[in-house]
Amino acid sequence: MTTKLEQLKARLAEIHNLHGAIAVLGWDQQTNMPPAGTRARAEQLATLSGIAHEMLISKETGDLLAAAEDEGADLDYDGEDAALLRMARRDYDLATKVPTDLVTEFRRTTAQAHEVWANARAQNDYPSFAPWLEKIVKLNIQIAEHLGYEDRIYDALLDQYEPGMKTAQVGAIFDDLKGELVPLVREVLARAERVDDAVLHGDFDVARQRAFGEEVIRAFGYDFERGRQDQAVHPFTTSFSRDDVRITTRFDPHWLSPALFGTLHESGHAMYEQGVAEGLEGNILQDGASLGVHESQSRLWENIVGRSRGFWKHYFPRLQELFPDQLGGVDLESFYRAINKVSPSLIRVEADELTYNLHIMLRFELENALLEGDLSVDGAPATWNDKMEELLGIRPPDDAQGILQDVHWSGGSIGYFPTYSLGNLLSARLYEKAVADVRDIPAQIEAGEFGGLLGWMRENVHRHGRKYMPAELIERATGEPLQARSYMNYLRAKYGEIYEL
Ligand code: ZN
Repeated sequence: MTTKLEQLKARLAEIHNLHGAIAVLGWDQQTNMPPAGTRARAEQLATLSGIAHEMLISKETGDLLAAAEDEGADLDYDGEDAALLRMARRDYDLATKVPTDLVTEFRRTTAQAHEVWANARAQNDYPSFAPWLEKIVKLNIQIAEHLGYEDRIYDALLDQYEPGMKTAQVGAIFDDLKGELVPLVREVLARAERVDDAVLHGDFDVARQRAFGEEVIRAFGYDFERGRQDQAVHPFTTSFSRDDVRITTRFDPHWLSPALFGTLHESGHAMYEQGVAEGLEGNILQDGASLGVHESQSRLWENIVGRSRGFWKHYFPRLQELFPDQLGGVDLESFYRAINKVSPSLIRVEADELTYNLHIMLRFELENALLEGDLSVDGAPATWNDKMEELLGIRPPDDAQGILQDVHWSGGSIGYFPTYSLGNLLSARLYEKAVADVRDIPAQIEAGEFGGLLGWMRENVHRHGRKYMPAELIERATGEPLQARSYMNYLRAKYGEIYEL
């Protein structure tokens, strides 16, 4: 006789498989599909997503889940079955608490808003997007009311992306960070002339760029037997199973940084997915714990490893070999400084390691103010610009380079941005703990070996997949809740030295 738990697993596996097929279609759309295929592909994706959603919210799934929970009341908390029940309950509640007509309205609104936003950004016309942002804020408030929250509206929205995280925690972490980061950025910018990144611009053969990136991530531990790299306009990582995790990148023939650091970034996401325990394959636990934890892995390999002096001690000679005319006469120190140049940018996605989190804090404050009625949609652009000046010392000349720059709000995502910063903070804390446990990780990196670091991440983060809530995973891995101190120490040491503060 099959147990209710086994029946539930079989049903969730079917839903999981549908999502895998959706991901394949999405990957194809962004890498290979001719543009004319867009309309049909949207229909295909909508049909499959609809079926997956209906299966999840159905009475059959709800009944099976309740019965399996009764059956599994005594399961070992750390076991995979108990974790599967916890996460299935979470997914089911999230999907069923919001009424279907509200979900439909949200989808319809954001589909249209995306197009309005793209035009508004191109025309620098915020007023045309404002009514849509107003609707999106209102719909998000309604969704939050259905999902439920105790303290702040934002709690319910944030929880969709960073399960269990509260607005007050993010606020406290950001306050800690802001107090030290803003003065540090000021000090660094006062000495901006110390660093020049001209060496990163020039003619860089794309095939060689690709070869170098692949050589590095192979050494990191990205498994090409269970993955591949393709080109996409907006690079991303996607997985269809732990044994098929794909990355994408884009090449600029005149600028070394986007493909190089983009590839290292995506490999971090991908190694996380490839490192999930084999036993979790094919079910809802075969995934990352949250967007923040995922981002900690990409930032670790991109920044903490990929922008470190130790890493380039090993790899710079190799890069010079591939680009003798461009880099043959450049010394390691100049190159190291170039890839770590700090300059305040109006645009978040172009921001350096030091200023990036200030962009996130601005969005976090604005989103909360919009939700709680402390800021009107009409007043938001001016507040955006004031905060840019307060935090980064620069003022956007227009809304296209200000409040209209990000795609997230037009897609309905409010509460998403903090996950980027949480990932940054966590990357530094995880690295610090890994080095405390495995002392020769820095020496290994200087020798072009990454097994110590990857092994620690596999053991403490990757293999658990989505078994634990992020806070629990972080406590298990690092012995304490997430804090800003480790990241601040990392930034202060690194940039203090580069800019001779
Ligand atoms: Zn990422």
